[in-house]
Amino acid sequence: MSKTLFEKIADREIPADIVHEDDVCLAFHDINPQAPVHLLVVPRKPIPRVGEASAEDQQALGHLLLVAGRLAREQGFAATDQGFRVVINHGQHGGESVPHLHVHVLAGRQLDWPPG
Ligand code: 5GP
Repeated sequence: MSKTLFEKIADREIPADIVHEDDVCLAFHDINPQAPVHLLVVPRKPIPRVGEASAEDQQALGHLLLVAGRLAREQGFAATDQGFRVVINHGQHGGESVPHLHVHVLAGRQLDWPPG
């Protein structure tokens, strides 16, 4: 199996602005930010997409959300008069473009609802 784009970032084969790394995941700035702050939190395990995760991934999935929340908090977006959004896209209608599960963390502007 060839490496996914995000595995190549984790292995430093493709450069990225990495802001967090641990045994389970890494987080880095999106190359095409959709908000003043746009981070991607990515498991090291190349789970293709959330709908294909299995019970054995339960701990990793929870970890991704905890890291997403911690990064938003550390960057000053956790106050409720600020805020941030966590997004996971699955498949074509979901807007997925990279087949390696990732959590988007968007912050720094008013985000619309419903999303486009
Ligand atoms: P998706 O559309 O799959 O939910 O999100 C994939 C995200 O990966 C997009 O927001 C896209 O801008 C980002 N992305 C694609 N290629 C690269 C890259 O080489 N480096 C970084 N940092 N982000 C990327």
